[in-house]
Amino acid sequence: DFDLSQLMSNADLAMYRSKARGRGTYTIFTPDMVESHKRKLSIANSIDQAISNNEFQIYYQPKIDGKGVIIGFEALIRWVHPEFGMIMPAEFIPIAEQGGKISAITRWVIEQVCVEMSVLRQRLQRRFRVSINLSGHDLRHSGLFDSIHALFIKHNINPEYIEFEVTESAYLENFALSNKFFRRVSNMGCAIALDDFGTGYSSLSYLTQISIDTLKIDRQFIRELETSERSRLVTGTIIDLAKRLSLTICAEGIENHEQWEYLLEHGCDHVQGFLFSKPIPLDQFDTLPARFERRTLMQSNL
Ligand code: C2E
Ligand code: MG
Ligand code: MG
Repeated sequence: DFDLSQLMSNADLAMYRSKARGRGTYTIFTPDMVESHKRKLSIANSIDQAISNNEFQIYYQPKIDGKGVIIGFEALIRWVHPEFGMIMPAEFIPIAEQGGKISAITRWVIEQVCVEMSVLRQRLQRRFRVSINLSGHDLRHSGLFDSIHALFIKHNINPEYIEFEVTESAYLENFALSNKFFRRVSNMGCAIALDDFGTGYSSLSYLTQISIDTLKIDRQFIRELETSERSRLVTGTIIDLAKRLSLTICAEGIENHEQWEYLLEHGCDHVQGFLFSKPIPLDQFDTLPARFERRTLMQSNL
């Protein structure tokens, strides 16, 4: 007593899950896959409308220097969907990438940061950088540099206030194009950071061939600082590596003072994490202190 086309489409959904996980796997269909597939489709189909209806929003997470002073913000996109409520980028960015919609989102983010820059400058009254995340798909789009350049001119943005973050895998998958793009962006005055460092490629030889300013140590290492001697060693080694290559080093995902202390002791330049602030919208900037105080511990747990 089943409908054959339904059976086939359910089997299809299970098959796509298997394909997404790689070879040699199987997946047993469960009804929640239909729901999740519908949500995905609906998200994919409402991206254009989200841009025109202004449903996206930028949240900013401060980046802090060794003295506890804010030196920049990472721009992190949020989507307040009319049906689903708040959707996080980890869910909709991959869908946008698959559906060829990421360039439009990236352009929206860059323009929105340009628009909000004057408010940010009023609030901070000193030099800082706003970091914008780029996806690997953006780097394959040859018009990206020109559209950034045009937006900076349109909104009168000093490129020295902007940084671009890209993961090492996105950079390396499009090596020649990325190198060309980032060299131009860097010549214009923007900074470049390699995001989620330590989780992508194991080959380090490319580090000598690319133009970047900052390595961002992935949150995974920071999370394990208290529990894993290996993570402590890898973190210390990444900081050392960055120093030797004259790169700035930023650690993400700092959630407690012990982690901050460890990173400071090992010479980490910048930190970012819930210990200081979650990503917040512009209208909550008043809640940020002028300076984050270090709590020196008599005995560190690390
Ligand atoms: P990411 O660039 O590595 O950003 C850091 C993520 O870690 C953010 O998640 C941030 O909220 C989270 N985070 C920061 N500090 C902590 C902490 O102390 N603890 C924990 N547990 N998490 C922390 P978010 O905003 O959900 O973004 C996830 C990812 O989505 C980003 O990772 C980035 O890859 C992507 N993304 C965000 N905004 C954009 C965008 O505008 N364009 C593109 N292409 N990707 C974006
Ligand atoms: Mg990032
Ligand atoms: Mg990251």
